[in-house]
Amino acid sequence: MSEEPKVTTTDAGIPAASDEHSLTVGPDGPILLQDHYLVQKMAQFNRERVPERVVHAKGGGAHGFFEVTDDVTSFCRADFLRPGKRTEMLARFSTVAGELGSADSNRDPRGFALKFYTEQGNYDMVGNNTPVFFIRDPQKFQDFIHSQKRRADSHTRDNNMQWDFWTLSPESAHQVTILMGDRGIPKSWRHMNGYSSHTYLWENAGGEKHWVKYHFHTDQGIEFYTAAEGQAMAAEDPDCHLRDLYQTIKRGDQPSWTLLVQLMPFEEAADYRFNPFDVTKVWPHADYPLRQVGRMVLDRNPDNYFAEIEQSAFEPANMVAGIGPSPDKMLLGRLFSYPDTHRHRIGSNYLQLPVNRPKVEVNSYNRDGAMRYSNPKDPVYAPNSYGGPKADPSAAEPSWYAAGGEIVRAAYTQRRDDDDFGQPGTLYRQVLDEGGRQRMVTNIAGHANQGTEPQVLARVIDYWTKVDPDLGARVARATSSGNGQQPGGPAASLTEAAAPSGQR
Ligand code: NDP
Repeated sequence: MSEEPKVTTTDAGIPAASDEHSLTVGPDGPILLQDHYLVQKMAQFNRERVPERVVHAKGGGAHGFFEVTDDVTSFCRADFLRPGKRTEMLARFSTVAGELGSADSNRDPRGFALKFYTEQGNYDMVGNNTPVFFIRDPQKFQDFIHSQKRRADSHTRDNNMQWDFWTLSPESAHQVTILMGDRGIPKSWRHMNGYSSHTYLWENAGGEKHWVKYHFHTDQGIEFYTAAEGQAMAAEDPDCHLRDLYQTIKRGDQPSWTLLVQLMPFEEAADYRFNPFDVTKVWPHADYPLRQVGRMVLDRNPDNYFAEIEQSAFEPANMVAGIGPSPDKMLLGRLFSYPDTHRHRIGSNYLQLPVNRPKVEVNSYNRDGAMRYSNPKDPVYAPNSYGGPKADPSAAEPSWYAAGGEIVRAAYTQRRDDDDFGQPGTLYRQVLDEGGRQRMVTNIAGHANQGTEPQVLARVIDYWTKVDPDLGARVARATSSGNGQQPGGPAASLTEAAAPSGQR
């Protein structure tokens, strides 16, 4: 670079006299409070961190685009799903339980959050790399997360606490089965699928409705780390997934995912054999086959991680015309909790930051608040007779008819095939090969053998026996030996010292 560097300035644009020396009375004298440049640097530095996300704190992401390859207009009128349409987007991937500096290769579900900057406003899909979740009622979410984070006394993570919660919450069995299998530690963010997990509602131009689940299949292929490899990588490069995505895009490769959907005709949900909105269950492919929609490509790294990834804010409440929520209770809870946490974490005007701002004009009557720089003009209220924005009834989101009933606190109404252990049992028996089953036993035992108290361990064995009797028996053998060792299999390699980073 032959050009002279620019002159450093204060944040007010005033040229700075020195990048190195504070203002003092003589070279050896005291520092003067009138060194406003030093004061600004210190004060700004003290405020560099925003609160980290309470979940999904450690992550990374990139910009890209989504292009529609197949015609789904007979199912959904959303403009960004028109054949051939290309929409700018942002993706953020993350672990769930670990803090900002935690290792990328820990056993944990991965967040798979997408923001589509559509011409009808932002559409966010805030999914995971698994098609299901641990619980099905948001009433339990805070307790679930507390059980996965740190104890009140020692401030350490605690496997006993995790198993205590899981085994007292049988609806967690499907997600924990996936977590303890090979997909519990993806080799990189590029080598994992993403799922909406939740069911959404699609509506076409004629008002016809379908329930929909999204599946983003990685075009790089699914690859994973074994427990031992994940642990080794946590020591060698805790930022391995962050680094992998950044370097891949930097060298010109463009990781991509194919979007497929499962569609259920609106009326079929009422009589389906289990509750199709229960987020602890998948819709079997045989009942609802996958249908291709398009392709997402990541081709641009952030220039500034803080501005474009840390301050990015995804919220399932961002749905565009033609797409609505379903009666999935977890989704309905998340519609509130995501924007609420962003207001706390980033500030009430987080949607004005460049990464979160839609690419379309915003004509809202919301105003003021900290750090707001774009406000509505007069008139500042609606209705008004001075030409202010007017709502458009055709923008109403698709909705379902909710049958009246008593106001209750209750589980979903039981259906004939509603059970917590059937689908994880199918995964263990019919989807995994013997190698996968073996590694699952090793992973479960390696985790449960660390500090799990006898009465909780007894429930752990019962829990896995309900998933599958053979699995339960193998876990019982492996946990009674106390080291996760499987006959003929690799030893569970988590050590006591490695426990905090090796959990989940
Ligand atoms: P299928 O045989 O059609 O589907 C099995 C699916 O299992 C595969 O398509 C793959 O999902 C997924 N899979 C493969 N290996 C693993 C693993 N180690 N951990 C987690 N998932 C894996 O049967 P069904 O549709 O009837 O589903 C059977 C079981 O498969 C379910 O009970 C569920 O546990 C699991 N599954 C089902 C999915 C679904 O949407 N139907 C999605 C994911 C898992 P993918 O193609 O998405 O990679």
